[in-house]
Amino acid sequence: MSIGQEILLLLKEEITEIEYNRYIKQLVFDSKKSTSDLVIYYAPNALIANWIKSKYKEKIAHLFEIRQGSKVSVKITLKDQMDKVKQEQKVEQKTKHSLLNPSHTFDNFMVGGSNQFAYAAVKSVSDRAGKVYNPLFIYGGVGLGKTHLMQAAGNVFQNQGKNVIYTTVEQFLNDFIRHVRNKTMDRFQEKYRKCDVLLIDDIQFLSNKEGIQEEFFHTFEALKGTGKQIILTADKHPKKIGGLEERLQSRFEWGLVADIQPPELETKIAIIEKKCEINKVKLTKDIINYIATVIESNVREIEGILSKLHAYSQLMHVDIDLAFTKNVLKDQLRENRSNLTLDIITQSVSKDLNIKPSEIRSKGRSKNLVYARRIAIYLCRELTQNTMPQLAQYFGMKDHTAISHMLKKINELIENDEDFKVKIDELTNKITSSS
Ligand code: ADP
Ligand code: MG
Repeated sequence: MSIGQEILLLLKEEITEIEYNRYIKQLVFDSKKSTSDLVIYYAPNALIANWIKSKYKEKIAHLFEIRQGSKVSVKITLKDQMDKVKQEQKVEQKTKHSLLNPSHTFDNFMVGGSNQFAYAAVKSVSDRAGKVYNPLFIYGGVGLGKTHLMQAAGNVFQNQGKNVIYTTVEQFLNDFIRHVRNKTMDRFQEKYRKCDVLLIDDIQFLSNKEGIQEEFFHTFEALKGTGKQIILTADKHPKKIGGLEERLQSRFEWGLVADIQPPELETKIAIIEKKCEINKVKLTKDIINYIATVIESNVREIEGILSKLHAYSQLMHVDIDLAFTKNVLKDQLRENRSNLTLDIITQSVSKDLNIKPSEIRSKGRSKNLVYARRIAIYLCRELTQNTMPQLAQYFGMKDHTAISHMLKKINELIENDEDFKVKIDELTNKITSSS
């Protein structure tokens, strides 16, 4: 029985049976929408709702308080009305916050050597809008957290009631075109020049677009002139973007230009732990370490990996352990390393073991050759998307069954021969970190 129903039975003890049956019995408790400080009951019609509200609401609240030890507010309403209220709230939220992701907060952002400069810059801007670095320009590679950081500041400002606009260059451009077409440029200008904070993502797309650069320049001047904060991101330093008007490029550097670098291992681990917490996925330490070492730098992959692991484990009713993780991530890894070729891997093995590539690919049977060939084949299989027949052809072996036997043998070695395993790990690291 739900706590809501329990409370109604307690109430029953205190009122007449007629009253109970006529009114209270008709209430339906909403266990989904109720929380520890708001309880919601639905009445069948407005009459009953009003009657209960005036006569029993206090009592119900009191019973909850006794039962839970904390105050609650009680809502007696009609079901469809509740839905309406919710819907209105949703629409309102949508129009207000539609573009800022609420989970992009400073709390959810893990700081390490690679991003602490950008983090500190954005944080100080969020403490003192328009007063410290204006504009603040953040640049760095894909998936390193630029949008997250910029929106973290946006969320802070929005919670202070400031009018924040977050837009990508593309949306800004589309908006511009639409207003030009509708001959409502005054409204466009009003919108962008009167906001308190302007966040523009991926500024590199302004490159070689003169019309919008001109418009953006005036927006920039208007905001900057009135001390309104501007935050910009791009994948490169303003100097390197190219195709930008001189006056824009120089303005981008007026405030502070901060870069984000690819995360170090520890930061990656911290980010994975945070994402697990947010997405309620439980992973052991060794799995987290494994994921952190296999993803290169793009943090965006982490979320994809977690949801993939979660989905697979649910579908297949298995716990997420290391072997399972490795399996699930196999395809992902091969995709990531599509720039690795059989030649590159063979050359690396060749260099490391001091055996010519042509020898590795020959049929020679000496111990050293066999050793090098095994390692090369294993790494080619692990690190590229080549099929077994392709590997057979490359290494001059009879067919895919020969490769398959070989791989089986190698896996046994990895299990039983610690030196062999260490060598494989060492070479894997070498090859993948230089690719
Ligand atoms: P960018 O805009 O630089 O391409 P995003 O800001 O979109 O990258 O980040 C990609 C994903 O990685 C987002 O889900 C973001 O929350 C996450 N992310 C990136 N860096 C961090 C970090 N330091 N801590 C937590 N999450 C991060
Ligand atoms: Mg981004």
